[in-house]
Amino acid sequence: MNRIYNFNAGPSTLPLPVLEQAQKEMVDYRCKGMSLVEMSHRSAEYEEIHYGAMSLLREILGLPESYKVLFIGGGATLQFAMAPMNLLPAGKSCDFTVTGAWSKKAREDAEKVGRVDVVYDGREGDYLSLPDPSALILNPDAAYLHLTSNETIGGVQWQSFPEAGDVPVVCDMSSDFLSRRLPVEKFGLIYAGAQKNVGPAGATVVLLREDLLESCPSSLPAYLNYRTHSEGDSLYNTPPVFAIYLVKLVLEHLKAEGGLEAAEGLAEERSRIVYEAIEGGGFYSCPIPPHCRSKMNVVFRLPDGELEKRFIAEATAGGMEGLKGHRSVGGCRASLYNAMPVAGAKALVEFMTQFAARYG
Ligand SMILES: *Cc1c(COP(=O)(O)O)cnc(C)c1O
Repeated sequence: MNRIYNFNAGPSTLPLPVLEQAQKEMVDYRCKGMSLVEMSHRSAEYEEIHYGAMSLLREILGLPESYKVLFIGGGATLQFAMAPMNLLPAGKSCDFTVTGAWSKKAREDAEKVGRVDVVYDGREGDYLSLPDPSALILNPDAAYLHLTSNETIGGVQWQSFPEAGDVPVVCDMSSDFLSRRLPVEKFGLIYAGAQKNVGPAGATVVLLREDLLESCPSSLPAYLNYRTHSEGDSLYNTPPVFAIYLVKLVLEHLKAEGGLEAAEGLAEERSRIVYEAIEGGGFYSCPIPPHCRSKMNVVFRLPDGELEKRFIAEATAGGMEGLKGHRSVGGCRASLYNAMPVAGAKALVEFMTQFAARYG
């Protein structure tokens, strides 16, 4: 076996013990003579996985009883539409912070559903920074405020969140969910596609404060209504069983490794190691100011595009995948999700140092 260091932004690296357990259980799940993916989603075996994953999430997050845990298909992208369809009634508006590529997409879908007020748009600064959360001027009558906690492509991450008073905060946490301790009660709705920190693509975790279910319109088609998923415990239709199974294994692993506090410590350590290497020496540079640098997606540049190409090619040859920046912004990006070992960050830095010595 030759496992490389996988710096892909998503789908992305998963803990090796999780993959090995899934491999072991793949063909004959718990002596049932069939694979989990061949079983009914109403079977006792699957129910244990489904409800087990939900309760692990509750435990790891310290989730208050007043929140529902939902697993929905369609990626975080479906939530760009579902959130406004359910929570933005006619005659109301929602506030949006536009901080990069993902919040732009979320905003575009929300605008198809109802009125959106953009309370922050980072466009003029090429989305390379975030505002002071306390400087935002919010509408106290908004149906909700939408945030993207970590911009996976741009590499900016909110270090603390705006206070919206009684206005529910809706947050896309796809790329930093479960990487740090979280004041859940500050949010009305949290959604995260699993394929960054939580598992494989196919399942989206949605946490919803129960009182918000009242505003979900009955006119919505069943699958698009949060109430359907809440009342059916995300078993209204066939859930993405294999994805949720892997989510449960990832959660068990996370819990055994010390939960969110440990994850937060590791995220700080990995990202500090890489940012320090970028700052030291003058060969690499990071376009993001320190106060909003992402601990999950570290973006950086080399002196020119040719060197960047060579850097990425040589890194790949050396067993470090996925360091190319998103095609929309160029440059380099190292995604350092929960499953990236600190040794991976150190190996990257060692390579960066050698590369700079050769070409700097
Ligand atoms: C990856 C990502 C998405 C899109 O997720 P899909 O599951 O592909 O729909 C949305 N928002 C953020 C912040 C992401 O990182």
